[in-house]
Amino acid sequence: MERIIDFTKNPVTEIYGIHCFNDAVMKEKLQKTVYKAMKNIQEGKTQLTLDIADIVATAMKDWAIENGATHFTHWFQPLTGLTAEKHDSFISPTPDGKVMMEFSGKELIKGEPDASSFPSGGLRSTFEARGYTAWDTTSPAFLKEDNTGVTLYIPTAFISFTGEALDKKVPLLRSMEAISKQALRVLRALGNTTTEKVITTVGPEQEYFLVDKEYWERRPDLMLSGRTLFGSMPSKGQELEDHYFGSIKERVADYMRELNFELWKLGISARTQHNEVAPNQFELAPVFDVSNVAADRNQLVMETMQRVAGRHGLVAILHEKPFAGVNGSGKHNNWSMGTNDGQNLLDPGANPSANAQFLLFLSAVLKAVDTYSSLLRVSAANPGNDHRLGANEAPPAIISVFLGEQLEEILSNLAEGKTVKNAHGQKLQLGISALPPLPKDLTDRNRTSPFAFTGNKFEFRMVPSSESIAEPNIVINTVVADTLSEIADLLEKSADKNKTIQEYVANTYKKHHRIIFNGNGYGEDWVEEAKKRGLPNLRATVDALPVLMEKSTVQLFERHKVYTPNELESRFTISLERYSKQINIEAQLMISMATRDILPACVEYMTTLSSAIAGIKGAVPKAPAGGLETLLSDICTNVDALRTQTVALDKVLLLAQKIDDVQAQAAAFREKVFPAMNALREPADCLERIVAREYWPFPTYEDLLFRL
Ligand code: ADP
Ligand code: MG
Repeated sequence: MERIIDFTKNPVTEIYGIHCFNDAVMKEKLQKTVYKAMKNIQEGKTQLTLDIADIVATAMKDWAIENGATHFTHWFQPLTGLTAEKHDSFISPTPDGKVMMEFSGKELIKGEPDASSFPSGGLRSTFEARGYTAWDTTSPAFLKEDNTGVTLYIPTAFISFTGEALDKKVPLLRSMEAISKQALRVLRALGNTTTEKVITTVGPEQEYFLVDKEYWERRPDLMLSGRTLFGSMPSKGQELEDHYFGSIKERVADYMRELNFELWKLGISARTQHNEVAPNQFELAPVFDVSNVAADRNQLVMETMQRVAGRHGLVAILHEKPFAGVNGSGKHNNWSMGTNDGQNLLDPGANPSANAQFLLFLSAVLKAVDTYSSLLRVSAANPGNDHRLGANEAPPAIISVFLGEQLEEILSNLAEGKTVKNAHGQKLQLGISALPPLPKDLTDRNRTSPFAFTGNKFEFRMVPSSESIAEPNIVINTVVADTLSEIADLLEKSADKNKTIQEYVANTYKKHHRIIFNGNGYGEDWVEEAKKRGLPNLRATVDALPVLMEKSTVQLFERHKVYTPNELESRFTISLERYSKQINIEAQLMISMATRDILPACVEYMTTLSSAIAGIKGAVPKAPAGGLETLLSDICTNVDALRTQTVALDKVLLLAQKIDDVQAQAAAFREKVFPAMNALREPADCLERIVAREYWPFPTYEDLLFRL
């Protein structure tokens, strides 16, 4: 394949960010006063005015046109979990039969997509059929280039006319606001007078599979449901672990090169890439961004991965578990919080006051995660993750926190009133002397924990690979905002702050240390141990979702103005509907593939075999034919089971489809349809192992996982 991307002709430093309306472009294109005004708006200090919007819109349009753009679009994230867009051109006809290229501040600020068919979980139907999109001034606009041309993309929020959030961005922005407010109260109470804002940051590491497009097109299950619904394990799996960090194949390297090129142009800092554990599985890690920007960019990363793959005759698969028995894909949501003046609040720091502050914020996270562990679990629930969690090198559905032994020992000694040695070997006094230094590599060794402290951030590893990262971050931000508000209440009233910190850290450890687990999270023992500790193990999406409707959840989100009860209920409904729809698609696909592909292929092979047996018996009556007869008989048995299970699946599917109540329907899909799908898969996978290769109607796991 021809190498289109030549970095000697396009040096990275020159192409980086050329498609992003970033700070540098704004500085160059806007007058100093307007640029300053925009910065204040982005930092939430002043409101956006139409005057400013007009000037910025013109600058944005000119920049976009210079780069070949003809259209613009408001880009938003409806509750489908995908992104949506509607393109308008800049063209405005003039009386003399020509056109001008126009883009007003009004068009930049607000759009009214005809969006009545997006899922709203009942939010819109009761009020107003339509919603509008509103510019998110904090997430940079960008240009997208494809065969239709170049388009200016404006990241927007999607809101109903009554102000309800119809998307994932609005609640994320609200949650960032909530945590900033509470963290700031804590910092003020600790004597910080300079910080103006607390910012949450996220670096999402994205896992994915690549498969040859030709094979993919011959697998209706992969094409339509994102995962294989049938498929027997190949003779070689991942047991040799020879793929992990192995050298990258040329075809994949070409793909990654172009992927990087496209992402870098967008100003997305794809930084590391490597082979993952499973064959043909890979990972891309960016440098972290502010949460809402990270969420937007992760969507762009996923889209770009898929688009570029097409150019290489490949398909990028983002599903959480495309292949049963092989590692699934997740997203590692690296999360931290910092101040606008550059302090990472989860960094232990070197001096005594930084240490005390660190232990306080760390305790806030511990308490939040233990108190709301089920809610965190829900934020990572989707039908794909149901197959991944608790299987092949994936965290179980139990939330626990990894701190590392050294840090846990410090906390437990503080809790028990035992002496903790400070950096100089003397007794540690919070706020007065410094913690012993915590080596970073020690805290990062455990890769099996779903929520791991990794030196200056937490890594939430349960997040599904195909989903927006908005929801997990909405939950993390809100639950931590909640504990921080409690801490702020205590500190604001306290006469002896060091004592209050000391007590809070000690009490939190005492009450919540059950959430800390430094051992192997993939082991069976842990499931037992977690049960003894009373930690919830919500295995399936359907078990987890009702947590959204619990009183404590509704109150939590209301308290911090992140979701109204209506908004929360709409998300509950949409998730249930999505679950049912997904399993429904999969079940229908299985019935179709079993009946129209697998069965006919097997019958053909059976015919060949039986005429061979008859032929042998006629020609050489004494020749042993028992082996062939047993094979034929095995095939008959499995074909019979295949047919029986298809009929059984069809029956339970019809029943589930008829249920009106969304919750009861989702439960039926989980409890009745899903087991019937597994029962159908069994004889089909047996058949794949014994039917001659040339008769088998689909590319196998061997093709999908090893041929690139
Ligand atoms: P590794 O896990 O490979 O050792 P790092 O720990 O540097 O690498 O980073 C993993 C991910 O965590 C990257 O996406 C990185 O940008 C992100 N990350 C690093 N620091 C922070 C932070 N303060 N907040 C959020 N994410 C961060
Ligand atoms: Mg990681």
